[in-house]
Amino acid sequence: MTVDVKEPVIYSGFFITVSFVRSFCYNKETERKRYESRSFGGGDTMNYGELKKTDIANGIGVRVTLFVSGCTHHCPGCFQPETWDFAYGQKYTWETEMEIIEALKPGYVKGLTLLGGEPFEPANQRELVYLLRRINNEMPKKTIWCYTGYTLETDLLKESRARCAVTDEMLSRIDVLVDGEFVQAKKDITLRFRGSSNQRIIDLKATLAEGRTVLYKFPDE
Ligand code: SF4
Repeated sequence: MTVDVKEPVIYSGFFITVSFVRSFCYNKETERKRYESRSFGGGDTMNYGELKKTDIANGIGVRVTLFVSGCTHHCPGCFQPETWDFAYGQKYTWETEMEIIEALKPGYVKGLTLLGGEPFEPANQRELVYLLRRINNEMPKKTIWCYTGYTLETDLLKESRARCAVTDEMLSRIDVLVDGEFVQAKKDITLRFRGSSNQRIIDLKATLAEGRTVLYKFPDE
């Protein structure tokens, strides 16, 4: 009598594949439910205009850049006034978040840059804080840059229209903050990663740790 060993092997391979696909789908479904049950956010609080997956113009190295919608600064000479409208672009959803997480995975991608519009409008902070939390937890080596028209000391660290329940957490999760409104009279196209000379590139981790504003030092300086 001969024993056919191929069948059990085929069956076990089949069951391993099925259980892998099931657990993958389950995890995705669990993640989606968790996203949709957030106390705020959850896909109906923020729009975005563009998602760039290999951007080298907005921070050090190759970066994923998210241009969120909505800005109340209305700086004269703003290079994209269409993004002032909170309804501009498309809805930021769970799929968008997953797309960003996937885009960040390759080793050559240094991190995420948030631009706008205004990432620090409270409605946007309440959505973005979840994304930053995920990136910090799941890929701690990726850096986070954020552009804001608000000024760190007077608007983000003190009571202002920008402050909300998650502002401190947002700040704690950002590595580099480019702050200040765009001022047309101070526009300078030779500046690196900023539009006008009043804007500052701040090392936010060092600033919060030392309790004083520390400007970012470029690695090649
Ligand atoms: S903060 Fe930025 S997006 Fe908002 S108006 Fe000023 S330049 Fe435009």
